[in-house]
Amino acid sequence: MPALSSLLDRFLPSAVSDIFTLTAKLKAQGKKIYDLSTGEPDFDTPQHVKEAAVKAIAEGCTKYTPVDGSLAIKSAIARKFWRDNGLNYSEDEIVVANGAKPLLADAIRTLANPASEVVLASPCWPSHVGMIEIAGAYPRFVRTTEDTGFKMTPEALGAAITPKTSVVLLCSPSNPTGATYTHAELEGLSAALARHPDVWIVSDDLYEHILFDGRSFATMAAVNPSLASRILTVNGVSKAYAMTGWRIGYAAGPQVLIDGLCKVMSQAAGCPSSVSQAAAIAALDGPQGFLKDWANSYQRRRDRSVAALRRSRALRCTVPEGAIYLYPSCHGLIGSATARGARIHSSADFVRYLLEDWNVAVVPGSAFEADPYFRLSIATADADLDEGIRRITAAVDALSYRD
Ligand code: PLP
Repeated sequence: MPALSSLLDRFLPSAVSDIFTLTAKLKAQGKKIYDLSTGEPDFDTPQHVKEAAVKAIAEGCTKYTPVDGSLAIKSAIARKFWRDNGLNYSEDEIVVANGAKPLLADAIRTLANPASEVVLASPCWPSHVGMIEIAGAYPRFVRTTEDTGFKMTPEALGAAITPKTSVVLLCSPSNPTGATYTHAELEGLSAALARHPDVWIVSDDLYEHILFDGRSFATMAAVNPSLASRILTVNGVSKAYAMTGWRIGYAAGPQVLIDGLCKVMSQAAGCPSSVSQAAAIAALDGPQGFLKDWANSYQRRRDRSVAALRRSRALRCTVPEGAIYLYPSCHGLIGSATARGARIHSSADFVRYLLEDWNVAVVPGSAFEADPYFRLSIATADADLDEGIRRITAAVDALSYRD
């Protein structure tokens, strides 16, 4: 039997997929699962976006486009960057891909030499780590805690950047913590970045439109234009417009970076779906008012859910400033025992207990490089979210502690 590539030994399978597999198995057995594990808006894709896709199909817009997207979508993205972020990019400085995820993976391959280090805050999105490892580079974590609202300080970021650093990867609002850097906080980080002119910066802005408590969005290329010549700003339609299945992500950056990225994409990817590109143009150019309504609705769910979790004294829960997740600490549950006598040694044990004994699916903190925590999604229909949270607190109450 031939061996698989040795690259596979360098990283672990995603802890998120483990829980997805078990959840899918239980659902297939006919169990009702309160699934708070997936980061997917429960809203429907807006009607005008669907209609644009239908029209594109009817008009024969069903063939390959350029590998990095059509001129029409690049123009819509250029308008978006100008309207929302005050960033002025030409179509040549923009790429479009089958979602932000493959785009980020190709960007890391473009910017990070094998054995170099990519600096990022933890807790972090597991795929950021996986794509760094697949590129043959190493993640270098800036560990953040609840005390700083899970945000990097300029000092901690500066200390993590070494001659081995190829890329600093920023993500705000963050998956999984919802930490959202203000303009002033990004200015602070930009001073640390300015001292390292040989380091690329990738800004993952996927949750730009999901902000709470009247916050406004800030992105590094706009905060410090003197860094823009080494920043790739990544975004997409998945989370903003409830278009996760349409698979459109995009990015803008300096020409040399975009040319390198297109070179990788030209061999590693096909063009994004022509129909989805037409739909994304309608999303980006169409009405934007409902984005605020959706964010308000996530905020109401956040408030209810955080309050309910905090009533359980064994759990701690910070208040996310954006994105669609809560990231409570289950530190207080370590060492407890379930009614069936199983011991909770880790967040993974707690998550398995929630799923098997209480039919609630969440994701263990080990997946996000910070433990013992768990992540749950508030982008879940109200009734399921409320019942899921009720079950989590009941599950915590049902644990017993040895003296
Ligand atoms: N970036 C972050 C921080 C995410 O959480 C996700 C998806 O969960 C993505 C990127 C990928 O988005 P897309 O659906 O565009 O691939």
